[in-house]
Amino acid sequence: MKLPGLLLVISGPSGTGKGTVCRALVEKHPSIVYSVSATTRPPRTGEVDGVNYFFLGEEEFLQKVKEGGFVEWAKVYGNYYGTPKDALLANLAAGKDVILEIDIQGAMQVKEKFPKGVFIFIMPPSLKELQKRICTRGTDSAEVIAKRMNSAAGEMKSYSNYDYIVVNERVGEAVAAIEAIIFAEKHRASRYQCIESPDQDNEILFIAEQYQ
Ligand code: 5GP
Repeated sequence: MKLPGLLLVISGPSGTGKGTVCRALVEKHPSIVYSVSATTRPPRTGEVDGVNYFFLGEEEFLQKVKEGGFVEWAKVYGNYYGTPKDALLANLAAGKDVILEIDIQGAMQVKEKFPKGVFIFIMPPSLKELQKRICTRGTDSAEVIAKRMNSAAGEMKSYSNYDYIVVNERVGEAVAAIEAIIFAEKHRASRYQCIESPDQDNEILFIAEQYQ
């Protein structure tokens, strides 16, 4: 029996290492698709268009919003970010597991549209450790660092809107926790429908429920 793909939504304050955790997960499980978002933020050193993000101008982004091209979109730290709709729907329809690494506002929009998604919140071990991680990343200006630290404490209060909490103390352990979540979610009874087979042997069939 073919299981349907899972829609995994991962959020957490910036500096929790959620990007590192998601990358490690996808490297270990190449069958999981990482959804590439669109953004108006300028690329950081080493970031590649179409791999890390689709880097768009503001006009282009807002045009795509108008056309309904995003499943969700939000303004985060002064830039727009959005999840392209067509690729997401095509991957889910093909039975692939997809990860969205998006902010809380976006995650809540996805939850409305895809209540069967799996919502995971990545926590830092402490606020002190978070500050250390944001500062040592070295990719953001002092102004952006201050903005991100200010938001972090508030963002952490949103954990209760998620299905699971993963504390990222060590990347390997955080990845193992998400693997366990995926494993359990694939066996969740509410993802299945039990019907009797239409042929004579009255075999019971479990049909995996699709999204929407
Ligand atoms: P960064 O600029 O550090 O790559 O990302 C900043 C924030 O934007 C992170 O919290 C990240 O999860 C979030 N983000 C990235 N892509 C998307 C997206 O498609 N939609 C939303 N709502 N947030 C996103």
